[in-house]
Amino acid sequence: MLIYQDYNLQSVNTLALPSIAKKMVCFDHQDQLGPLQRMMSAAPRRWVLGGGSNMVLADYVDALIIKMQNKGIRVVAETTTEVVVEAQAGENWHQFVQYCLNRGWFGLENLALIPGTVGAAPVQNIGAYGVELDQLVEQVQVWDVELAEWRRFSVTDCAFSYRDSFFKRNQVGRYLITAVQFRLKKLSAWQPVLRYPDLQNHPDLQGEVTAQAIFDAVVQVRQRKLPDPDVLANAGSFFKNPIVSVAHYQKLVAQYPELVAYPHGEQHYKLAAGWMIERAGWKGKQIGPVGMHKNQALVLVNYGGATAHDVAELVQKVRADIKALFEVELEQEPIPVC
Ligand code: NAP
Repeated sequence: MLIYQDYNLQSVNTLALPSIAKKMVCFDHQDQLGPLQRMMSAAPRRWVLGGGSNMVLADYVDALIIKMQNKGIRVVAETTTEVVVEAQAGENWHQFVQYCLNRGWFGLENLALIPGTVGAAPVQNIGAYGVELDQLVEQVQVWDVELAEWRRFSVTDCAFSYRDSFFKRNQVGRYLITAVQFRLKKLSAWQPVLRYPDLQNHPDLQGEVTAQAIFDAVVQVRQRKLPDPDVLANAGSFFKNPIVSVAHYQKLVAQYPELVAYPHGEQHYKLAAGWMIERAGWKGKQIGPVGMHKNQALVLVNYGGATAHDVAELVQKVRADIKALFEVELEQEPIPVC
């Protein structure tokens, strides 16, 4: 088991912030749980790291970082219409989506090209183009560091909500997600999800569509709109789309008729944070080494050399403008790690 002291996390977070972790250990296999548990229970503070694509790291992280690198995919159960497939936490998310598609297991295609790992996906209940992870999860395998025992979290236990879960809200560092099971469809039971404008209007998705065509379209659209973290450092959407009351929405739409918003249940609306940030003039705007991306205003990018301080300054300015214009508090999506 690889253990590092004072490890620089810059190369393992997609926002490329320089950050020294007091200690980091790489988890590759369940056989390592014995020594790892001793180390984890002795550490006063812990953070679990997947692909590092959804976090904002402080300059110094006074904690034990557990980097999940365990690999493996297996079929747990199968019928003529469905398959339950389990992937270990360290599997790359996009490669897992591709793997399932190649085997004729459908449902994940709208979630193509999301950076990160399988184990991190339930933490923030990743979603894109009308599909949310919670619709496909069967159960989550967790090592509970406090109780030193295995636990199986059902979808209900995971308490999923919009870009949120039990794991994001409760005792960070206590629950080590080691594997996730998904219930996927075979062709005879599969239904495409095409209601988002980018898919609805896509020239390759008119008439009868395949899951492969959706996958290809999602990859193409994302590559066009979103910066590749390997080329321009970023942590994906930086703010959650705010959920507001119908009354709040009506007030805003009277003021901004072109407001982009969607009903969220019966009593709420979800506002497109990207549209609001663009309307506030932040699209493509840079402050020092950080800025909001020129093609997708919701994505905060590090042009090189940024620190957590630069990010915090920009975030504070963007949030203040959105509050002033729309009376909405933007909530940061990536998890602050310190
Ligand atoms: P978009 O299509 O320009 O739409 C703007 C926003 O409106 C989206 O954030 C989406 O909310 C919402 N929306 C659009 N059509 C909708 C519909 N038919 N019903 C309900 N809500 C709808 O969005 P985009 O920025 O290009 O992103 C496309 C998808 O990829 C979105 O689902 C987005 O969440 C996802 N994405 C996520 C990340 C991340 O880091 N978390 C990064 C990039 C893209 P939702 O966000 O709730 O879907």
